[in-house]
Amino acid sequence: MSADPVPVRDDLLEVEPYGAPQLDVAVQLNTNEPPYPPPAAYTELLCARLGGLRLNRYPDRRAWGLRGELGARFGVPPEEVWAANGSNEVLAQLFQAYGGADRTLLLFRPGYSAHPLIAKVAGTPVVEADLDAGFSLSAGAARAAVQAHDPDIVCIARPNAPTGVSIPFEAVRALHDSGRGLVIIDEAYAEFAVDDVTALRGELPRLVVTRTFSKAWRLAGARLGYMLAPPWVVDGVRRVRLPYHLDALTQAAGLAALELEKEMTAHVPEVIAERDRIRGALLALGLEVAESSGNFLLFRSTATDLFDRLLAKGVLVRDFSSAPRLEGALRVTVGTPEENDRFVNALEESLI
Ligand SMILES: *Cc1c(COP(=O)(O)O)cnc(C)c1O
Repeated sequence: MSADPVPVRDDLLEVEPYGAPQLDVAVQLNTNEPPYPPPAAYTELLCARLGGLRLNRYPDRRAWGLRGELGARFGVPPEEVWAANGSNEVLAQLFQAYGGADRTLLLFRPGYSAHPLIAKVAGTPVVEADLDAGFSLSAGAARAAVQAHDPDIVCIARPNAPTGVSIPFEAVRALHDSGRGLVIIDEAYAEFAVDDVTALRGELPRLVVTRTFSKAWRLAGARLGYMLAPPWVVDGVRRVRLPYHLDALTQAAGLAALELEKEMTAHVPEVIAERDRIRGALLALGLEVAESSGNFLLFRSTATDLFDRLLAKGVLVRDFSSAPRLEGALRVTVGTPEENDRFVNALEESLI
């Protein structure tokens, strides 16, 4: 009998589990969640609903009611909507269904670090192209990247993470029109931006748009994401989803949130105003700050131990300083006005 540990798959040996530090710090501005919990009206509605769930039974496997309500917000039928446990699971299902060992996924650097990780787990080879110096992408560069790699899937976040920059519509069109694969636009932060690509769906038949309830909707703890996609893509991911993948509690959480959309997202204008206020403060401190249309800001400093100095003052941000193309960069999530003041003050003191 062998008591030796069984090795994981060879291609997972050097994979680091995803995750920012979850530290017990006074001001937590490192994972882009909204600073406020959902309103009391939401918790009350959800509690009232929970009593009516028949939890001895499996949930509606198709999540038809939820998909119908999500679709109604965009004027599309439930056949063009798919929901799962966070938009990361939607991406995992897309990569499983449309990726695989003999296919390629095109990503752009710098980008969301979960994308290559999810691809790796789905056994999908990744090819990468660089964003421009301002972290955007021209139509010409988009076309060149697609023509060089002929990918089966292209995926980019818009607004992008961790930069906050939104690539122009012309680049999205070029990613689509110069290739043959799925074009996935990860719109986790769309509600904080001035525009979104859902308007391009009619024009771009292979476009898939993923969204989440984790950011503007204040439900990161519930794990709910969705996509708007052509019906044949929804049919594709149905082949890889686990049986009854989306539980009844999460479906109820999503339906209740949609009923209270105005209240759930009421904080968004304040977050946008605070983002722009913090950006001004960072620029005034002489820092280089990316143009963000998300609920966070990426900034660069030459002070090497800035992350630790902020942490010592009780402010946790995200450290990207050793990531490729992001040397010296930190990212701060927009918090409450008080948290943002504490961050700016801690930064001022740390830079003296
Ligand atoms: C936060 C984030 C998500 C959200 O993932 P969920 O699984 O829905 O919580 C997706 N994409 C990007 C780029 C993000 O930053």
